[in-house]
Amino acid sequence: MKAQIIDGKKLAADTRAEIARGVVELKESKGVTPGLAVILVGDNPASVSYVTAKEKACREAGMLSREIRLPATISEDELIAEIEKLNADPLIHGILVQLPLPKGFSEKRVIDSIAAEKDVDGFTPVNVGKMLIGDDCFLPCTPHGIIKLIEVTRMDLSGKHAVVIGRSNIVGKPVAALLSRKSVNATVTMCHTGTKDISAFTRTADVVVVAAGRPNTLTGDMLKEGAVVIDVGVNRVPDANHPKGYRLCGDADFDSCAEIASAITPVPGGVGPMTITMLLWNTLESARKAV
Ligand code: NAP
Repeated sequence: MKAQIIDGKKLAADTRAEIARGVVELKESKGVTPGLAVILVGDNPASVSYVTAKEKACREAGMLSREIRLPATISEDELIAEIEKLNADPLIHGILVQLPLPKGFSEKRVIDSIAAEKDVDGFTPVNVGKMLIGDDCFLPCTPHGIIKLIEVTRMDLSGKHAVVIGRSNIVGKPVAALLSRKSVNATVTMCHTGTKDISAFTRTADVVVVAAGRPNTLTGDMLKEGAVVIDVGVNRVPDANHPKGYRLCGDADFDSCAEIASAITPVPGGVGPMTITMLLWNTLESARKAV
């Protein structure tokens, strides 16, 4: 294997230590403790574990964590009423609604009801619009974390070719937008299921971000020598040798990509830890703006 492993756990630990120092400083100077409210509707096991991890990280950073667990039987209007209470609560600086919501909810209407100044996920139309025009805003957590992971490699992306595989609203589109900002200055190609020959693009790419939600979407033969690979995918594949009966893998075939790439993020331990970290980052920023 030739590639440097981009250690998302270490970057996340270093960044969380910096955030924790910021929390102490804000408490001491202004008497304010950043507060994050996490709303979980229903009991989807993956969502429960994501929410638990977010609450733990929040407390470890010295922030106030408020957990709001609601039954799947709650109406959309009742859920929005809960969000409106949090919008008006001065102790809460960030509001997160764990997605996906159970069937029948309009995620768009629910997310739209979060006050933009507390939208630490960066999902509301106001924050997405501000990101696109380059205004000050909360950047979406996974794409922001991806930019931080690329920075670890010290590759100057100006004038370089970046390929993003996937065009979702939460990963692909915002990553492409951030990479094409003047401050990063990459030339960006976005690929999706309508792209005829993805490897024709990835073979000229200096950076490939793969967020397709499908194992082996990117393989070593699709890469240019020395490319940087950011693997966003989290897939459960059956594995009888694993106690849980499955193992996690990304969207890139790690072994073949690591032979060609200069640097690559592992799954797990790459993008995932940075997503929660950037959520804490935004919550601290929100609390700083509120004083
Ligand atoms: P998504 O909403 O399902 O979007 C997947 C995108 O990939 C779509 O745009 C789709 O194209 C494209 N795609 C799917 N298969 C493809 C293929 N074979 N070739 C080219 N493009 C393909 O997924 P998402 O929410 O963006 O998440 C993507 C992956 O990242 C998932 O595994 C998810 O679990 C993971 N994820 C991880 C984190 C983290 O913190 N680690 C955070 C968010 C997401 P079309 O638009 O044409 O359908």
